Amino acid sequence: MRASKLQNTLKYSRYAYDNEGYIIHMLTSNERTFFTNAYIIETKNGLVVVDTMMINSDAIVLCQHIDNLNKPLIAVIITHGHPDHYNGTDTIINGFNEVPVISTKGVRNCIQDSFDAKEVKWKPYFGHDWPEDKILPNHLVKDGDVVNLDGLDYFFRDLGAAESSSDLLFTLGEHKSAVFVGDVVFNNMHGFMNDGNSAQWLRVLQQLLIELADVKQLFTGHGAPGNTYQLVQAQIEYISHYRTCLWALISDNQLLSDTQKQSFEFLMNKHYPQYQLASFIKAGIDPVAQELIVENHPLKMV
Ligand SMILES: [Zn+2]
Repeated sequence: MRASKLQNTLKYSRYAYDNEGYIIHMLTSNERTFFTNAYIIETKNGLVVVDTMMINSDAIVLCQHIDNLNKPLIAVIITHGHPDHYNGTDTIINGFNEVPVISTKGVRNCIQDSFDAKEVKWKPYFGHDWPEDKILPNHLVKDGDVVNLDGLDYFFRDLGAAESSSDLLFTLGEHKSAVFVGDVVFNNMHGFMNDGNSAQWLRVLQQLLIELADVKQLFTGHGAPGNTYQLVQAQIEYISHYRTCLWALISDNQLLSDTQKQSFEFLMNKHYPQYQLASFIKAGIDPVAQELIVENHPLKMV
């Protein structure tokens, strides 16, 4: 599989934390697979991969970057159970001996419960590029666990439902200079609201504003890394705006008509003209509208 001809490339960026003994290599897919980020955390004697891309051809390019670093893969971490973050795991660990795939029980259950439905949705679109074999996390961490990998401490937090039904974050090293949040925060991109947990997602983000106040750099599942406080705050504003704008279009507790949905997409694009992944706007309309209708007076709590 690794020798097959590739048309894909992944955008590459490098962030060195020389004083703390690690380098973060960031790989980003193209728009067809939603500008998804995967990371390789390099320490003196090993590599840890964070998320594994969605399709075979992207995962193979990620493997080539791993191979080029010429160090053993010592673990894979999966941030959450959406296929753009776990689908490539089988390809990534192929050829390495018993690599632990680290995540929480909630993420494992999310993958297990949804991979058939995701395959029905996406395999017709991606064809042979859609991976056949799914690997579930096999090394489960709990909220507050610290795992040392090649001398570097990984501090794990189980956030529960936020962007997905179960989201994980972790900070690195004693200085906690970097945090990886999966899709709990996007940067300059529309959020994926399809799972309909927007109120809970907001509560998690408010908590993170306090909890991550001293963490300098945030690495996200989609978009460039950036200042932790600013990115978390921007995500709060995005979700709040999405909810407010959608609630304004809901009347008589009815889901939006097709015309109203087009208006909503227009308004969101107008408010965030520079944001990418505009296709995500539509994906959240019905689930979030349903959520707002159940909440009844949602704006009071935002
Ligand atoms: Zn994602």
